[in-house]
Amino acid sequence: MISEIIKKSKKIVIKIGSNTLSNEDGTINKEFLERLCRQVALLETEGKQIVIVTSGARISGIAKIKKWYRKEDMNYKQALCAIGQVELMTSYSCAFEVHGIQVAQMLLTRDDFCDKTRTLNMRNTLFTLVDEGVIPIINENDTVSVEEIKIGDNDTLAALTTSLWNADLLILLSDIDGIYNKNPKEYQDSILIEKVINIEELIKSIEIGKLSSFGTGGIETKIEAAKIVNKYGIPMILANGKREEIISDLIEGKVKATLFKQEN
Ligand code: ADP
Repeated sequence: MISEIIKKSKKIVIKIGSNTLSNEDGTINKEFLERLCRQVALLETEGKQIVIVTSGARISGIAKIKKWYRKEDMNYKQALCAIGQVELMTSYSCAFEVHGIQVAQMLLTRDDFCDKTRTLNMRNTLFTLVDEGVIPIINENDTVSVEEIKIGDNDTLAALTTSLWNADLLILLSDIDGIYNKNPKEYQDSILIEKVINIEELIKSIEIGKLSSFGTGGIETKIEAAKIVNKYGIPMILANGKREEIISDLIEGKVKATLFKQEN
């Protein structure tokens, strides 16, 4: 099922979580990025169009300047994101350059999705970049987003982007194989749920544990993201980006993941 859905999707949004992107010490996992970009390049040669939503600016900032990691002050958090965003984009740019692919940075806020003119501008930029073979790499614009107006997590940002771009599929890459009946990091006997057709039923039947060390949204925001895209009939896959060839393996049916696909 997952394999078929990926094969027949032309426009795919892939979201990378902080944990997937980083090493234990918070530095960017360059091997992961190289593998990801190779797989994305392969998808493009098969005629697919890809948009990436990526987390990781703050941890990249900490890894770069090696201080301020304990500062709770908003100004410092935003400053770290400003520093880290450069690192993040440089890493993506280098990893894609090997495959002759250009990337473009799009930093968005909640307001951008609420204002008609801004939404139109975003859509136009997104379509132009993709049509020209450039891969847009999207993140929340942390330097202008204070807590009250923040989207706050990139799962939601990825879902909003997916519907804005009319994508065929959203893939969230996290550090777990999918949704379990309880947190797999806390319980060894947790069971993977491979298909979700009714999100409300799912919420009632699972236990939601805490998020991972660099994570921001946790499993709740992933479920919320599924709700947003499923409403428009777009399926979502939650899969483990820590696995070496995750996208290729999903296509070949070699790994398990969770598919959210509402059936009416
Ligand atoms: P990311 O950085 O990839 O966005 P998060 O740390 O925000 O990831 O959320 C994923 C984490 O949610 C997992 O590492 C897992 O420990 C935790 N989690 C809690 N409850 C569950 C559950 N029922 N099923 C799967 N993961 C869960």
